[in-house]
Amino acid sequence: MGKTRAEKGSAVQTYDVVIVGSGFGALAAAKSLGKAGVTFSLISSTTEHLFQPLLYQAATGMLSTGEIAPPIRRILAQYDSADVRLGRVVDVDPEAHQVTYVGGGQSHTIGFGRLIVATGATQAYFGRDEFKDRTFALKTVDDAIALREQILSCYETAHLTTDPAARKELLSFVVVGAGATGVELAGQIRDLAHRYFAGSFKDIEPDDVTVTLVDGVKEVLPAFGGKLSAYARTKLEKSGVDVVTGGMVTDIDDDVVTVQDVDTKTSRTYPAKTVIWSAGVQASDLAATIAERTGCETDRAGRLLVHDDLTVGSAKDIYAIGDVTSLNKLPGQSPVAMQQGRHVAKMIIGKVDAGTPFKYTDKGSMSIVGRFSAVARLFGKVDMSGPIAWLMWLAVHLMYLVGFRNRYVAVVSWMTSYIGDKRPHFQYTDHSASATELTGKTSDEERKAA
Ligand SMILES: Cc1cc2nc3c(=O)[nH]c(=O)nc-3n(C[C@H](O)[C@H](O)[C@H](O)COP(=O)(O)OP(=O)(O)OC[C@H]3O[C@@H](n4cnc5c(N)ncnc54)[C@H](O)[C@@H]3O)c2cc1C
Repeated sequence: MGKTRAEKGSAVQTYDVVIVGSGFGALAAAKSLGKAGVTFSLISSTTEHLFQPLLYQAATGMLSTGEIAPPIRRILAQYDSADVRLGRVVDVDPEAHQVTYVGGGQSHTIGFGRLIVATGATQAYFGRDEFKDRTFALKTVDDAIALREQILSCYETAHLTTDPAARKELLSFVVVGAGATGVELAGQIRDLAHRYFAGSFKDIEPDDVTVTLVDGVKEVLPAFGGKLSAYARTKLEKSGVDVVTGGMVTDIDDDVVTVQDVDTKTSRTYPAKTVIWSAGVQASDLAATIAERTGCETDRAGRLLVHDDLTVGSAKDIYAIGDVTSLNKLPGQSPVAMQQGRHVAKMIIGKVDAGTPFKYTDKGSMSIVGRFSAVARLFGKVDMSGPIAWLMWLAVHLMYLVGFRNRYVAVVSWMTSYIGDKRPHFQYTDHSASATELTGKTSDEERKAA
């Protein structure tokens, strides 16, 4: 390899920098280090750089998963000083400056001068881990594919069934969590019913499809609040989404969701074949190990409470960035992760002094609510909603999408989906739903059953 730091008398390969993860924070750090010619190894448990904000579009057939998840190895191929490894980091030794990771079914050790932990977050089920197996999530490429196939399967099976109760259940979708992901998904599933499936399933009217958005808090998009939340609610309701706020999900069982009103404590049930959980996040697994090894404190979601300069606990050479951390109540959003990645890289390169506190520049946050409608808060204070906010959302997300081809394809897909009524990736699924998946039985079993 010839690019690693010399480590006399050590069999362990050592890099100036080891980066863990391939998300927004890791990629921003890697690009800055690569441009500066710093030798680094990036270890990630997935081969791709996943653009999570567009996952809901992959789940609803607008974009393909390839367009939002290009291989991290290809993105970093332009940097001579970059090494990429597929593996899951399971331990860190701050004294020995070594990381242990599992890749290709084996355990490996790699040395680092500095370590950047950017392992993101996973879904939180607030002590109800059994909900994980009863709901769909939207965090990974596999999640998006699974949800897309579930939606398609529900329509196909509803078309076949003669049992009205089963049909209703198949065409009922409950989305738990009215943050950006929940709102975007609920709006899109409703839009699918109106403008995509309505044309191809002649017997399924848009009004046969129920989409219920549930949240324990009283506003949708609570991070925005006020007029923007009210706008989002009105838009969703107009599109036909049933918005249930101030309702805690207390049970999910046998395709029935039980929701308890936070004020009256009365419960209501919502039968639904598809329940999507987007109600909260917790730090990825590695955070607990880093906390234990460095003495770094964590918050209730297990996120590392990093120092202002993004170092963790007592370790001066270990940084953590993005969703795996919590600092000054910054939101778990991609701009925070990217700016933190660049800040750490600048300290490593020497563009700014080690120990320089991280300062976040809030250029704005936005969320799509439906077709031609979005909400945006620019620079933390200018509020916008409607078609102009929607156009801005598209432009910003296009800008950050990696690769010219992906941007071009995204524009074409958006035009065919938003202006036309097509969903290019329901037409060309990564893995088309088969009759076996729809019925859960093989042809042998079906013959026997018949
Ligand atoms: C559905 C959805 C929609 C979103 N929409 C928006 C939006 O509109 N705007 C916005 O700003 N933000 C949005 N976000 C949040 C945004 O995606 C995150 O803030 C951002 O991805 C955080 O970046 P990160 O680098 O910290 O972590 P991630 O991007 O989550 O990357 C974590 C990486 O670490 C890897 N990893 C995890 N554990 C290990 C391990 N032990 N060893 C090796 N690798 C590991 C993972 O494979 C992954 O590559 C959304 C998130 C989701 C899920």
